Formats: sequence, structure tokens, C-alpha cells
Amino acid sequence: MERIYITTPLYYVNAEPHLGHTYTTVVADTLKRHFQSIGYEAFLLTGTDEHGDKIAQAAALDGTSPKEYADRISDLFRSTWDACGIAYDHFIRTTDTYHQEYVQKILQKIYDAGEIYFGEYGGLYCYGCERFYTEKELVDGKCPDHQTAPQFISEKNYFFRMSKYQERLIEEIQNKPDLIRPERYRTEVLAFLREPLEDLCISRPVSRLKWGIPLPFDNNYVTYVWFDALLNYVSALNHRGGDSLQTFWPKAQHLIAKDILKPHAIYWPTMLMAAGLPLYDHLNVHGYWVMDSGKMSKSLGNVIRPLEMKARFGMDAFRYFLLREMAFGQDAKFSEEALVTRINADLANNLGNLVSRVLAMQQKYFAGVVQPVGAEWSAEDRELSNKFAQAENELNGYMAELQFHRALETLWSALDYTNRYIVQTSPFTLMGPRPGVIRTESDKARVGEILHHLLDSLRSVARLLAPFMPDTAAEMRALLAIDDTAVTAPWGEAFRAGHKVNPPKVLFPRIETDTSK
Ligand SMILES: [Zn+2]
Repeated sequence: MERIYITTPLYYVNAEPHLGHTYTTVVADTLKRHFQSIGYEAFLLTGTDEHGDKIAQAAALDGTSPKEYADRISDLFRSTWDACGIAYDHFIRTTDTYHQEYVQKILQKIYDAGEIYFGEYGGLYCYGCERFYTEKELVDGKCPDHQTAPQFISEKNYFFRMSKYQERLIEEIQNKPDLIRPERYRTEVLAFLREPLEDLCISRPVSRLKWGIPLPFDNNYVTYVWFDALLNYVSALNHRGGDSLQTFWPKAQHLIAKDILKPHAIYWPTMLMAAGLPLYDHLNVHGYWVMDSGKMSKSLGNVIRPLEMKARFGMDAFRYFLLREMAFGQDAKFSEEALVTRINADLANNLGNLVSRVLAMQQKYFAGVVQPVGAEWSAEDRELSNKFAQAENELNGYMAELQFHRALETLWSALDYTNRYIVQTSPFTLMGPRPGVIRTESDKARVGEILHHLLDSLRSVARLLAPFMPDTAAEMRALLAIDDTAVTAPWGEAFRAGHKVNPPKVLFPRIETDTSK
């Protein structure tokens, strides 16, 4: 069985789960479900990144220890993903013992190989970013992220010979054009690599920071938080045991937002080279959600919390919006207005109405009992079934390229076609009162066939939609009274003679907005 390994970044425990975290996690979950549906063995990893200055500072402000603080926020992430129905396979914390031991093992290995050296470095340091800045990177002499002037500090530290791997990294990126995707981020990384790459400071003196993994070869130092955190992607597989590291690791699909491109596209592959491990399969980079009211922040009160969204709109509707609205790789706008418009137009009017309409006719004309389809299909029948086969092909292609919005667009075009099929075949006319026309048994049999094809459409929708909207797909299967084997049966063969489907129910109530008054 082919394998795929999907990872979210380890979320830093200095903030509670918000829209950005949720998007990456929903994407990871959708990918996992999709690849499982086409026969892959998939493993989804998420977790929390818990060391470093920022956490030590936040804990101090909070009046707790860094560990207690990290425990609380880490639990919040885990319980949020549980409540959102995210099907992760393992939740890793960088404070887990096995992870710390693995980081030390890799550090020792690289140190023994002569790839880590002791040296002095003086420079402008931003405590908020936990890193040194070059003059060129500053804006008006200030950290662009924190708008504070960095302080000059000089200290002895351990350095990883990252510069040594510059040429090989460029070669790897050039040899595999979609190693980093979409293209714009690959271009950005290659542009960055045109300048000489510096070595990476991978330690912090204990005199300044205690909250970190001690270096195995010098206990006066702890590990730089990025060097520690990035290794989670392999330490989790190593911990899982068996052949996980050998078989899943080369199939790794990292999912990240563009703010952490550099550590994942530069530090991480060079660390892997030094550790003698293969590179990940793909680094998949997405853009930002931009709020109408400006950058999302606590002070502006516009932080989008996943559980609030779930409570107000339903998790599946929220997932649909995230996956449909953003073109993976580009920024997208988030507004409640746009969310409500999508729910009303795509979910309530289109999908929800189609389900109700078909099940209502099945109920009214045949008391829910599915009628047989004959060997002879009309041109419309064939076209409908072809449309879904074609949509499935296209959808699979888009999913391989993380084009979630296109995949959903394709599925919705099949929904549109199904609505058109109803108009073309006109079952309500065949069954309804027609002055001067007597309804025949063959009219009724034809309506039975039309509805059978329509139920097959709904079954296909339930199957193809499942990775994106798992709860809705389950509800549709329940309405159709089918199990998992019937879901994947060929068109026309899923419903046995006498199979009874359920009466309709409203899947997505329309949301009334103030503007509609
Ligand atoms: Zn900063």
C-alpha cells in the first residue's frame, strides 16, 4: 500500500488556536482523508512547539512555570482539534521525553561529524523573534515584526555549518521543481540562496535561557528552538517505531504558512543532509487570511476562533468556506459576509436543495423504495454518470496539486449538471397531472429510473465530498441508508431491489442576514 505522511507545523504555544492554525490543520485533515479514500495508508502528525524565550517570558507574565504554561496551551490545541473532528494520528509535544532524546541524539551525531563548532558571534538580537538580525533586514533600525530596536549582544555559541550545504540545497531544489510549492515560494527560496548562506547559531546560553533542550555535549547551553522543533517531523516517526521512519519519512508532505518558509526551506533540509536523512517529498506553502478589519489581533478583537465558528455555522460549513475560498499559496480574504454567502449559495441552495428535492420525490412517488434501472440508458443518463466520472478524475488531479478550491468547484459543477438533468428529464412532469394525458406504467418506470440515477449522483457526491465535509457526507450516507461498500459500488449497482432511502431533511438551513431585511 502506498504511503503518505502529512504534517502541520508544530504550533507555538504563545497563542491560542486561531484561523491560521485552523486552516493548515483542516487542509492536512482533508488531504489525509482524500489520500485514504484513494487507497493510501496515511499518517497525520500535529502538535505543539514549546521551548524558547517567548514561552519563558509568557509563563513569567502568567505567574506559572514554562512547563505548566505549555501544558495548558498544548491541551487547548489538542482539545480544539478533537472538537473539530481532526483525524490526526499522533500529537507530538517538543517537551515529550522521546522527542528531547531524539534531538540530543541528532545533535550529538552532527557534532561528532564535525558539523557543529563553537564560536563567538556579536550582532543585533531581537528578543521577540529570538534571532539575530542583519542591518539590511531591519526597517528604520527596528525589527520588522516587533517594531522594536534589537539589542547588540555578543556571546559564544554553537554553530551548525549550514553554509556548507548551500550548493547541494540549490541543486536539490533545481532537480525537483515541485519540492517547494507553489512555484512562487520556490522562486523566493532560490532568490534567497543567491546570497551566501551563513552558518546557523543553534544554541542559547543557559545564563540567558533555561527553557530548552540541553546540548548533549555542553550543559551550559540549550538548543535553539527551531533546531529542536523541526526535528519533530522525524522524531515522531522514530518514536512510532517499526519501519515508520524508513517508509513514511520520504513521503512527507509538510504544510506550512508562508511566515515559516525560511526555517522549513533552508534550515530543515540542510539539517536533514547533515543528519544523513533524505529530504521531505514536498514543502507546501500557503498564504495568509486577511481580515477586512486589518491584521488579525487580540487588540482589534477580530481573532477568529475555530470553536466559535463551529458553534455558529457548523464545522463542515466552516471547512467548506476555508477550502473553497482560498487558492492554496495565495492570500485570501476572510469575512463573515463571504462565509454566509457561500453557505447560502453553495450549501443551502445548491447541495442542500438537491438532496431534499431528490429524496422528496423518491418519498412521494415510491414511498422511498428505490426502483430498478434497465439495461438501456438514455443519453441524459449516460451523460450524468459520465459527468461524475470526469469530475472524480479532475478532482483527484487537483488534490494532487493541493488545489482544494478547484477540486470543490469541479464537484459543484457536477451538482449543477445534476440539477440540469432534473430539468431535462422532468420527472415531476411525468408524474404530475397533465390535462388530457394519461400516465402510463412506462412513465412511472422511467421516473423510477431517473430517480435511481439521481440517487447515484447523491451517492457520488457523498463519496467525493467526504474528505472536505466528513459529517455532511456521513449524513448523506445515512439519508441514503447505505454503508461504506455501497458508497464505492459502480453506478447503477449500489441500490439493491427493495432498498429504501430516508425522507429528506434540511442539511444546511439558510442563514438570514441583516442586509436581506
Ligand atoms: Zn522581532
